[in-house]
Amino acid sequence: MAQATVNRPQEEDTKSFRLLSGHTIPAVGFGTWRSGAEATNSVFTAIVEAGYRHVDTAPEYGIEEEVGHALQASMRAGVERKDLFVTSKPWCSDLSPDRVRTALKNSLEMLQLDYLDLYLIHWPFHLKQGASKPPKPGDVLEFDMEGVWREMEKLVKDNLVKDIGICNFTINKLQKLLRFAQTMPSVCQMEMHPGWRNDKMLDFCMENGIHVTAYSPLGSSEGGRDMIHDQTVEIVAKKLNKSPGQVLVKWGLQRGTSVIPKSSHPERIKENIKVFGWQIPEQDFIALSTILEQKRVLDGADLFVSKSCGPFKSVADLWDDED
Ligand code: NDP
Repeated sequence: MAQATVNRPQEEDTKSFRLLSGHTIPAVGFGTWRSGAEATNSVFTAIVEAGYRHVDTAPEYGIEEEVGHALQASMRAGVERKDLFVTSKPWCSDLSPDRVRTALKNSLEMLQLDYLDLYLIHWPFHLKQGASKPPKPGDVLEFDMEGVWREMEKLVKDNLVKDIGICNFTINKLQKLLRFAQTMPSVCQMEMHPGWRNDKMLDFCMENGIHVTAYSPLGSSEGGRDMIHDQTVEIVAKKLNKSPGQVLVKWGLQRGTSVIPKSSHPERIKENIKVFGWQIPEQDFIALSTILEQKRVLDGADLFVSKSCGPFKSVADLWDDED
């Protein structure tokens, strides 16, 4: 059960957040999961027409090459590389010390870049190449978190990535990482929307100076939770004369997180970043921050849980019983 903390809304209308490293991350980024054949057009529209500067992708999304085409086209259209913030994530089958650098090199090649702004451990679990969903016996391997992090740290030293971070960690796993990290994780990317606030993780990251990026801020797509049509979100949107998508993005920003909505529709891509120059008033912010039904959409069950053979026999196991 998530705790009932209500993080107070931020006063300033921030367009970027400063990371522990001193670099900045744009407050609104563009998500690319399930962008499919539209990925190149969507990312180009997001950057060149809508003004996004932060693009979130991963090899697991199967569209890094398409994202790369869009990045190149955006740069030909006049956007400078230094003004873009590109994030990718090694997949679980590459989470062994001997594979991390090759995984990064593959992402750089696909994206046609010579460095990434941010490289995040996608999930804190190590899978065998070609693992099934759900995993078969032997598909979930031991995760050498320290060995993998050391390799990620080397990527920073070698100027191949500017920042490193994590996704889908628990407080328990993050505490473990902090015990040996020589380079702190700059960013923790987690599912966060009013239907899954994950206050405990947000508070823990903030206490440690780790910036949080909220993924699936609209409740995700197929099989997700439709926060766009949530009653409280609709009421606040109507009152403020904004769209539900804008209210959800703004709620994340006012909690102090960067937010990475995905859309394949140009009008929504443009709408979702029009979140500056206005605020969600405190009482509406609190209404959004106290929605009772709290549940993860992306609990990792299909990827990592096997009731019969383990090592993770339940969703609670994956999340260290912290929910
Ligand atoms: P989102 O919460 O961003 O929701 C995307 C869905 O909302 C799509 O179905 C989209 O449809 C729809 N949508 C977008 N804008 C609007 C709007 N204004 N009005 C109505 N509907 C809208 O889901 P994601 O799960 O994609 O999360 C965002 C990003 O976060 C991902 O794309 C990915 O980059 C990242 N992510 C990271 C994870 C991790 O493990 N680190 C896990 C999951 C996501 P349409 O496209 O048709 O407009």
